[in-house]
Amino acid sequence: MIYPWLEEVWRGLLEQHDRPHHALLVHGPSGIGKSDLADELQRAWLCESPASDGSACGRCAACGWIAQGNHPDLRVLSPAAPEEPGEDAEGAPRRGRASAPSKDIRVEQVRALERFICVGGHRGGCKVVRVEPADALNVVSANALLKTLEEPGAGTRFLLVTHRPDAMPATIRSRCLAVALAAPANEIAIDWLVAETGTGRAQASRWLAAAGGAPLRARAFADPATASAHRLLVETFASLPETPVLRAADALAGVEPSLWVGVLQSWIADLQRCRAGAAPRFFPDRAERLQALSQATSLQALDRLGSGIATLARAVDHPLNARLMLEDALIRLRAAWAG
Ligand SMILES: [Zn+2]
Repeated sequence: MIYPWLEEVWRGLLEQHDRPHHALLVHGPSGIGKSDLADELQRAWLCESPASDGSACGRCAACGWIAQGNHPDLRVLSPAAPEEPGEDAEGAPRRGRASAPSKDIRVEQVRALERFICVGGHRGGCKVVRVEPADALNVVSANALLKTLEEPGAGTRFLLVTHRPDAMPATIRSRCLAVALAAPANEIAIDWLVAETGTGRAQASRWLAAAGGAPLRARAFADPATASAHRLLVETFASLPETPVLRAADALAGVEPSLWVGVLQSWIADLQRCRAGAAPRFFPDRAERLQALSQATSLQALDRLGSGIATLARAVDHPLNARLMLEDALIRLRAAWAG
């Protein structure tokens, strides 16, 4: 699937088909389709009977294996899943705790590539190493990858994907050809949302604003459960500081931390914009409330709040205690109006 706003970049990539750079770094904001573009690109690289424009046929054996996730010449590096305690040889549950899920791509994962890169491809074509999110490489694993990026085996292509290229070591970035993707113009994104979800333009425009201009994130609001969780979050955040923290936390119990943290950060960003005299970006239909709230606090207090929530957000995938994390965030939010 190539989204309309990525078609030009896509055509450019296909034109480089015969003289490709051995390592591409696809980067750009979240929610605009970087992963889908990378999917199409690895399919085009591995397809055994590509169309005349270079895109994948979707019918050959290679395309079939990719669809099933088991092409022998494709390796994907992403943060390691937690190791299950599993069973021992007798089938009894193993003792001991499962190792913690990793946020990093570990050096062992990179080292495991060596053999894959050394041996020839199974299908006589190229081999592809996908690294996503590429900013999950830590210092050690990035150093290990550097060697293969410098002297890739014949026919090996790297495809790195990230929305945080700045968080990657410069040594890795400098060895890749950057493919920068941008969020589409609002009109293009709204046209697409309307066609994709069947919603009206006004609703699509509100979704797009709430998603910060990222169309794929906006499309998630077409799911009634996501839309109602989002509405509940905005209503609850807008009800502070008057609503007591514990009541607000009760209202939001059960909402995924990764969802509420993102909405809260957008809410704070809009408060900061309003305090600085600009119009809200994410919640234009709440402009009046945002204006009133922002005038009752200071930019310094909002900055403190923003960095406090950014710190919490780093633990969002593995909170020790989701309820305490939520209360902590709401206490911080309320404190911005404590005077
Ligand atoms: Zn094919």
